[in-house]
Amino acid sequence: MRIFISADMEGVTGVVHRDQLMPEGKTYERARKMMTADVNAAITGALRVAPDSEFVVCDGHGVMRNLILEELHEAAQLVIGPAHPSNKPLCQSQGCDETFELAFFTGYHSRAGTPNGLLSHTWVGSAITNIRINGEIVGETALNAAVVGHWDIPVGLVSGASELGPEAEAGIPAGFVWVPTKTTYGFTAALCMPPAKTHKLLAEGAAEAVKRYKEGKLKPHKPKLPVTISVEFHRREMAAKAIETPGIERVDERTIAATADNTVDAATRAWKAVCRAQDEEPAWLK
Ligand SMILES: [Zn+2]
Repeated sequence: MRIFISADMEGVTGVVHRDQLMPEGKTYERARKMMTADVNAAITGALRVAPDSEFVVCDGHGVMRNLILEELHEAAQLVIGPAHPSNKPLCQSQGCDETFELAFFTGYHSRAGTPNGLLSHTWVGSAITNIRINGEIVGETALNAAVVGHWDIPVGLVSGASELGPEAEAGIPAGFVWVPTKTTYGFTAALCMPPAKTHKLLAEGAAEAVKRYKEGKLKPHKPKLPVTISVEFHRREMAAKAIETPGIERVDERTIAATADNTVDAATRAWKAVCRAQDEEPAWLK
């Protein structure tokens, strides 16, 4: 079977601080190794149940050149490169299409505004207060679940820091396997399990996810259509720039929205608007 993996970094084993998240950080090289190893653990587990599986992994964090290709499991191919709308219109779900049967979200984090959430944000922390799908506040888990759900692909595995579990359970259809990699203390601290432990949990979780998929226990996340994805920015200037994007409407001073017949179109347009809203092209988009 074909499994799509969207890999973020904040929820990876041992990652708790911004210093680990960007190439300038002193501890970044270690963190990207752990990110790659978390993804490999999930792949290894899935292969135990479905040995002929193929994987496409989308590097879904920051500069989107974090995962180490030469250390990636040979059953996978990797989407590398910044999420400029001309490159990766689907952002963290780039590479997904109707040929996949199942999705995993590894290293994910809680949404913007989560009280005491570890490195919490939605899409762009410096710009976005909230994202809503059909009026409901969502994080990246529900957002990307809705994107892959467009092709009727269910999410089978979600991994991240402890507080993401309840967010995911409330935001996407039940049945997926939740794998906590650490217990959150606050925005930049957590009680962390070592890779020797989290890799076991990730592999067991991925194997269980494939089993549940085969038993028909997983459902895709399909918001009601037509779907509206709205983005509430921190500053009204950002909304003013974002509405220059075709197909985007202004909802209020700080909020814009994309309404479409399907989630892929709405998400693509919303992401384009978010990139347009940046004062100047940020380093992670170049
Ligand atoms: Zn990230």
